[in-house]
Amino acid sequence: MVLVSSAQRLLAESNPLLKIEAPWTKEQVDALNSYQEEGWMHPFTCGSGNRTDKYHLDGEGKLVATENGWICPFCPYRQTWAWDMMFKPRPW
Ligand SMILES: [Zn+2]
Repeated sequence: MVLVSSAQRLLAESNPLLKIEAPWTKEQVDALNSYQEEGWMHPFTCGSGNRTDKYHLDGEGKLVATENGWICPFCPYRQTWAWDMMFKPRPW
C-alpha cells in the first residue's frame, strides 16, 4: 500500500528520537502547526497536567507552535522542543 510505504520511508529517513529546540523559523512553525492540524500522529498537547480541566476549552490543550516554542492557548504551559519528524510534510 502506497500510504504505508511512504510513511515507513519517512520514519526511516528521520531520527524519531531527535529533538529540535526552539527558536524555530517561520517555515518550521508553519510545519509544526500543520502537523497539529492534520497530524498523522497524535498532536502535542498541554503538559501542565490540567489539560482536561474546565479552562482547556478544546478538552485536550492542543499546543500552538510559535517561533519561540509551543504555547498552550489555555494556560501558561510552554515547551521548547519538537520531534524532528514533526517538521516534515506529512507523507501523503
Ligand atoms: Zn494548558
